[in-house]
Amino acid sequence: MQSCDTTTDMLAYSDALANMLKVIQPTLKTEQRHLSTATNCVLSRDVICTSPVPAYDNAAMDGYALGTPDQQQPSQFTLVGQVLAGQTHPEALQQGQAVRIMTGAKVPDGTFAVVMQEHTTALPDAVIINTMPAPQANIRYCGEDIAIGETVLNQGQRLDAIKLGILASLGIAEISVYTPLKIALFTTGDELVSPGMPLRQGQIYDTNSFVLRAALEHFGCEVSQCIALPDQLSEIKHALHTASTVADVIITSGGVSVGTADFVKTALDNLGDMHFWKVAMKPGKPFAFGTIHDCLLFGLPGNPVSSTVTLQMLVLPALAKRQGLYMQPQQIATGTLTSPVKKRPGRMDFQRAKATPQSNGETHVEAFTAQGSALLSRLDAANVLLLLPRDSGDLGPGEQVNFIPIHPILQGQY
Ligand code: AMP
Ligand code: MG
Repeated sequence: MQSCDTTTDMLAYSDALANMLKVIQPTLKTEQRHLSTATNCVLSRDVICTSPVPAYDNAAMDGYALGTPDQQQPSQFTLVGQVLAGQTHPEALQQGQAVRIMTGAKVPDGTFAVVMQEHTTALPDAVIINTMPAPQANIRYCGEDIAIGETVLNQGQRLDAIKLGILASLGIAEISVYTPLKIALFTTGDELVSPGMPLRQGQIYDTNSFVLRAALEHFGCEVSQCIALPDQLSEIKHALHTASTVADVIITSGGVSVGTADFVKTALDNLGDMHFWKVAMKPGKPFAFGTIHDCLLFGLPGNPVSSTVTLQMLVLPALAKRQGLYMQPQQIATGTLTSPVKKRPGRMDFQRAKATPQSNGETHVEAFTAQGSALLSRLDAANVLLLLPRDSGDLGPGEQVNFIPIHPILQGQY
């Protein structure tokens, strides 16, 4: 097929990203959230530990807390009580004394070590130690996990499951986070039908609504509306205008190319400022970035693979900056191709591929033959996107290629 791309009217991928990151400023809106509703929110302040975790020395296992051994009978201890988790022993242990203790219970003062139950023989009022623990063994010390004054979490970090657990362990119930970005999501296309409805000739199911909504919610954004619009300029303009007054970000899919029914660009031009359109990337060339007053607009291409790849490569880093999120630069890895790659110079190509680590430390990379931008099943089968430079041409097996993982919010590698 003849291509009519002129490489000069397309922005390089890296320039498009840099352009957006220059325009976008981080949000300053913050709010207090209870931990139970803060999943995936971004911390707006550092969290400093003000009380140690654990809060007191406690037993690391079920067994006996021992006082210092008696010189005469070092392996026999008199049993003076029992401490379950949540209880305390009122007195300090004397030489030759022991208490039965359960995991997590506070060790009495004077404890020399905790011995695990399996290393003991219980008598009615005493316990014989078969394997003597080292001094201080099996005790979890006060502050051993998190000490007072430690910076536990940093501003800009996303509250994932473990970080929420850390906050809970510190006794923090409410936390200051950046207000999640409110996103209005619009798919466009007269051919779109919602899943669950019958499909007539010429129609397709609206796939992108579901991909984009799920990914954005995982990313900690609030998708405040998700609407499929017809290919009508007036309707698109009206929807974008209304959304721009209530949302922080508008994301559209489809209608941003050069077809006769592509109205998103015109609507954006009429309502706000288009910062750029057309990026030298494949898939994803018809990508638009603009602003309507303070509202950012990302116009994604309609093909599902194109919209998903542009979401990862352009929109997520932009949203991260807007959201105040510190996002690690994507880890670029290198592997050896096991299959040929067809590539025409002119655009940076993010081909779908499967990377498989080998026992010798190398990574084998199989680029899929089918690279169509509508083939969502190939994106599902892939685990990486190849980073094929703009000017490169075909590659053959044995050649080295760079790649990045498909973002975990798109493809749960949990
Ligand atoms: P467009 O960018 O509007 O020209 O659309 C490009 C291709 O993507 C067309 O084949 C559309 O039917 C398809 N497409 C557009 N929007 C969606 C959607 N929401 N879900 C699935 N496919 C879509
Ligand atoms: Mg369309």
